[in-house]
Amino acid sequence: MHTKSIRELADGLRARTFSSVELTQHFLERIARFDGELNSFVSVTQEVALAAATRADERLAKGDGALLTGIPIAHKDIFCTEGVLTSCGSRMLENFIAPYSATVVEKMAADGAVMLGKTNMDEFAMGSSNETSHFGPVKNPWSTDCVPGGSSGGSAASVAARLAVAATGTDTGGSIRQPASFCGLTGLKPTYGRCSRWGMIAFASSLDQAGPMTRGAEDAAILLQSMAGFDARDSTSVHQPVGDYLAGLENGLKGLRIGLPTEYFDAGLDTDVARSIEQAINEYRRLGAEPVEISLPNTHLAVPSYYVIAPAECSSNLSRFDGVRFGHRCDDPKDLEDLYKRSRGEGFGPEVKRRILMGAYALSAGYYDAYYLKAQKLRHLISDDFRAAFERVDVIAGPTSPGVAFGIGERADDPISMYLSDIYTIAVNMAGLPGMSIPVAPVGGKPVGLQLIGNYFDEGRLLNVAHRLQQVTDWHLAMPAAFA
Ligand code: GLN
Repeated sequence: MHTKSIRELADGLRARTFSSVELTQHFLERIARFDGELNSFVSVTQEVALAAATRADERLAKGDGALLTGIPIAHKDIFCTEGVLTSCGSRMLENFIAPYSATVVEKMAADGAVMLGKTNMDEFAMGSSNETSHFGPVKNPWSTDCVPGGSSGGSAASVAARLAVAATGTDTGGSIRQPASFCGLTGLKPTYGRCSRWGMIAFASSLDQAGPMTRGAEDAAILLQSMAGFDARDSTSVHQPVGDYLAGLENGLKGLRIGLPTEYFDAGLDTDVARSIEQAINEYRRLGAEPVEISLPNTHLAVPSYYVIAPAECSSNLSRFDGVRFGHRCDDPKDLEDLYKRSRGEGFGPEVKRRILMGAYALSAGYYDAYYLKAQKLRHLISDDFRAAFERVDVIAGPTSPGVAFGIGERADDPISMYLSDIYTIAVNMAGLPGMSIPVAPVGGKPVGLQLIGNYFDEGRLLNVAHRLQQVTDWHLAMPAAFA
């Protein structure tokens, strides 16, 4: 059952080949069997899952329900889930039982999705390897001495090992696409504002966006259909009708102009990864698409400006975790200052502290214009590059990450090399565009991701372009042998 797509499972549920309770039990057993090794879940919500599965079976018996009804999925532990631990990968929230659910969680639950549990992640979504989690690193199912990518590493590993059919992730600078690439999954970061951020613990508010992590593009379309939409509770969610993401999946690609940015095929790109990307582009040629060379000349500004803007916004967002209003409180504080200092000192890990310090500095009087304002100007230049490119092409393609999954511990002491693993994904968040990663030919047994970038609200086209490739190739169907 765990190798099937959502549509195949939905058919099986309707044909009564199996029930949602049986399907859910199957995945819970897989989690019990394999997750000790992978550490992809922070909490497994067995009772909640079986109750939801029972309700789904009742709905299906009446002939009701959506494609997601009865399908076991996992949520990244950054999404508030009512009555369930929501830790955000941090000691700061290790006892936080959310009093309400995020909009995305509510919407999927309303469609009948069955939550199996909450997935491990980099602390407050800051990281590219899932090594900054308070709950320990997650292992990559393709090679358990390697990282799964981050920050949605638990979601990626759980879906890659088929401990869940699909999972949610969030992407501030690449955290859906990069782990999808390292774990051989399809991951989609929607246009900024497409999915509500309400109930999603904020890292960098102008960049954060929720999206699906799945085996294939059709599954991603099904999840996005459920997750997307305007939400009055999130003032940055966009009042724009949600498209029918399944309707256009089969559209032909004849004449599709695919932009290949020269800056994404530079010296920093691993040569074997480059070859896998070229092979995928050749498949697109066969499908009738026309590759066009383009330039995104301000690409080199994306990482430096991101590391001003994201820490600045995080230092402001994380000020609420003070041991009084939210979060861990130290024992026996001497006075108020001691309470703040020790609560925050004990609650946050080193990467989060580094970001708060950088951000507070960039926002401080005298430095605001020199850093934050300057970075916002660079952000405009980055967006303008994309705007110009989309006058000539329909989608942009390139690698998701410069290399494949690296070893656990290999970059943990080198923040800069860690930051550079998002060099091709960050600009997309800076511009607010939708981006996707889909598996292409592996290198040395490790997955490689092809990144597809679309114009604003063009998720339907991205899913179509991804799905067509997946109809003629089977890279997305490969499974790590140890978790069969
Ligand atoms: N790796 C990037 C960072 O650490 C992006 C994280 C994310 O997208 N949440 O900030």
